[in-house]
Amino acid sequence: MSEVLLDGEAVAKKIKEGLKKEIEGFKTNGKELKLIAVQVGENAASRVYVNQQKKACEEMGLKYELKELPSVTTEKELLEFIENLNNDNSVTGIILQMPLPKEINPKNIQVKISPKKDVEGLNPYNMGLLVYGKQVVAPCTAMGAVELLKSSGVELKGKEVVIIGHSEIVGKPILLLMLQSLTESPTPTVCHIATKDTPSHTKKADIVFVAVGKPGLVKAEMLKTGAIVIDIGINRVPLLDAAGIQVIDEKSGRPKMKTVGDVDFEKAKEVCSMISPVPGGVGPLTVTMLIKNTVECAKWQGN
Ligand code: NAD
Repeated sequence: MSEVLLDGEAVAKKIKEGLKKEIEGFKTNGKELKLIAVQVGENAASRVYVNQQKKACEEMGLKYELKELPSVTTEKELLEFIENLNNDNSVTGIILQMPLPKEINPKNIQVKISPKKDVEGLNPYNMGLLVYGKQVVAPCTAMGAVELLKSSGVELKGKEVVIIGHSEIVGKPILLLMLQSLTESPTPTVCHIATKDTPSHTKKADIVFVAVGKPGLVKAEMLKTGAIVIDIGINRVPLLDAAGIQVIDEKSGRPKMKTVGDVDFEKAKEVCSMISPVPGGVGPLTVTMLIKNTVECAKWQGN
């Protein structure tokens, strides 16, 4: 089967064009949108993410500021910091960078971020609105994965959807997003670590979302011919040459690495009608959805 790649960069570009106009509209009316990212302590992975967010926001005309708090910050101090941001009218949205020091429970902080400034869509109030199908914002990666699916033009009504992975930031919100319409929804099934026979579900699925973090988890033989596959996983694996031997970086003497998803992409693409690559699939949409949530929060605050 000749597969069609679901190009996340192209879909993100189109959505960003619309968002940019909305952001300019706010500016024309004297309101500059501003995101504050809060990071407690130092973390290399989080820094990469912060830099990506900053670049994407600034390209879109959004202000982005990183507030770095020392690693000794207590939960009480962080809550006070968040409260000040909630009360600051110049702040449109708040991002809580992970990981937090182990003494701080992220859920205790997320619940205190004003729902109207919750650009990551993780506050329980916003999760509740998602259950009602009345959400203003939703978790960015879940939204991004669903946007990518929708870009395929597939009609969802009546389709069998399998979601592999049931985390709060990806799998569960995708499930809820799949159930938004009372009459036009597909039929979603969620598989997870305790599912006895995931292939028995995926083999019947018209659409498969996978968000687990295990390279090669979804194999071609687990998929129905013509299925649409949205791969959300991000994994770093050693790069192999044509003979299957690890490629060694001459400078460092260490194995070269590459990024892959959870799907055995090369074989799966022979079976699928559409498949999202990693990188270049859901990734570009995650940060785009952060910007979309910011615009939605700004509108909400205006009301
Ligand atoms: P998580 O660790 O919170 O959840 C993993 C899920 O996988 C759990 O629900 C677990 O039950 C399930 N699982 C584990 N082993 C399984 C198995 N053998 N069969 C079926 N289900 C299994 O992970 P997460 O935060 O949801 O992230 C999942 C993946 O998505 C990771 O690779 C992560 O890097 C990636 N991710 C990508 C983006 C993006 O922007 N593209 C954003 C967030 C997460």
